[in-house]
Amino acid sequence: MMNLESCVAIEKKPLLSVEDAQQRIHAAIVPLIESEIVPLKQAFGRVLSQPIFAPMDLPTARNSAMDGYAFASENFSATLTNVGTSWAGKPFDGVLNSSECVRIFTGAVLPDNADSVVMQELVTVNGTQIEFLADVKLQKNVREIGEDVRVGDELCSANKTVTAVDLGLLASAGVKNVSVIRRLKIGYFSTGDELVSLGTRLTHGKIYDSNRYSLYGLLQNPCYQVIDGGVIADNKAELRRVLSHAATEFDVIITTGGASVGEADFIKEILDECGEVNFWKIAIKPGKPLAFGKMGVCYFFGLPGNPVAVTTTFDIIVKPALARLTGAIVNKPWQLTAVCTTPLKKSRGRQEYQRGFLQQIDSGEFQVASTGLQGSHILSTVNIANCYIVLPLECSGVKIGESVIVVLI
Ligand code: AMP
Ligand code: MG
Repeated sequence: MMNLESCVAIEKKPLLSVEDAQQRIHAAIVPLIESEIVPLKQAFGRVLSQPIFAPMDLPTARNSAMDGYAFASENFSATLTNVGTSWAGKPFDGVLNSSECVRIFTGAVLPDNADSVVMQELVTVNGTQIEFLADVKLQKNVREIGEDVRVGDELCSANKTVTAVDLGLLASAGVKNVSVIRRLKIGYFSTGDELVSLGTRLTHGKIYDSNRYSLYGLLQNPCYQVIDGGVIADNKAELRRVLSHAATEFDVIITTGGASVGEADFIKEILDECGEVNFWKIAIKPGKPLAFGKMGVCYFFGLPGNPVAVTTTFDIIVKPALARLTGAIVNKPWQLTAVCTTPLKKSRGRQEYQRGFLQQIDSGEFQVASTGLQGSHILSTVNIANCYIVLPLECSGVKIGESVIVVLI
């Protein structure tokens, strides 16, 4: 027979820490490698499957950094004769002789033997005679071949997420199509008998399904191909049927609700029966009941139902996991230290992600304040937050003026 002490010991079995959960997910996830070729614009926000090397030098030709006059410095004298114009896109084809210069515009190719451009503000024009100020500097304002990029240089590394600047850089090198990792197929579902969809009249005890709207926004990413799977009732057979079928169609399933151990919570049981549970409880608040595992080759995240727990666990647990799956290089989010300007209540035992508003005051110091009530159903204090205040397991509250760790939302 168990004595009271051993019962307590079982009850108090430590929950998986947030860091351990993140590590277990990291270890379980195998990033996608299948790739596809897409036109450059469609690569925005996608992950490159291989490095891209420069097919040409940039600039491809020596050109002017200024509107002005170009000449060969060895032929320079205080007055030069203007013998033509080099326009951007329409170069001057001749060769400059002694005492000659050409009118030139920014981006226009320099005549072969020219090596200097003097800006137009530093000359006096008398017909074709161009007089230079006494102290003009020679061999300036020329953009040399390859000074930006050399042919064969790596323009973008493999697994880089393509940014707006990457698009510009690749376009400047004439790269028309690129190879990117294929998109991650994600299906997301709400579960619960109480949920009704927008546009339906609320009857007593029903609520609008908000989690699918939050997830819709959270899942906007060019690397994801997302399907809204709708609402599934708290019916074990129905949940099993829908989810096990979904597991054959998606790379990732995300559900909300039913992840706990109430009479109407079936998610963990179904994951256990149809796949494998890696873990299903984390020492995180909000969001303790969170099931992670696999159904066949499909990764499964069973998030809690409470709307604040959904957005928080998505940010802290799911988002880094999805990023790893896409093959992207994932950098750890920045952690800042800020002075807390409101008292924070906390009980021990779970790492809390309280919603805060972070600002930098004139002295440069970061200050953070709680956005208000911290219940896991209170979305109205999340939508005014710009950060999570991370309170570690052992913390038992924060007084005004104490330092806390924050991560940006
Ligand atoms: P559960 O995890 O299913 O026990 O749900 C916990 C709480 O979250 C309950 O108050 C549910 O009504 C609420 N909830 C579950 N799913 C949703 C949803 N999709 N939208 C809004 N609230 C939800
Ligand atoms: Mg429920």
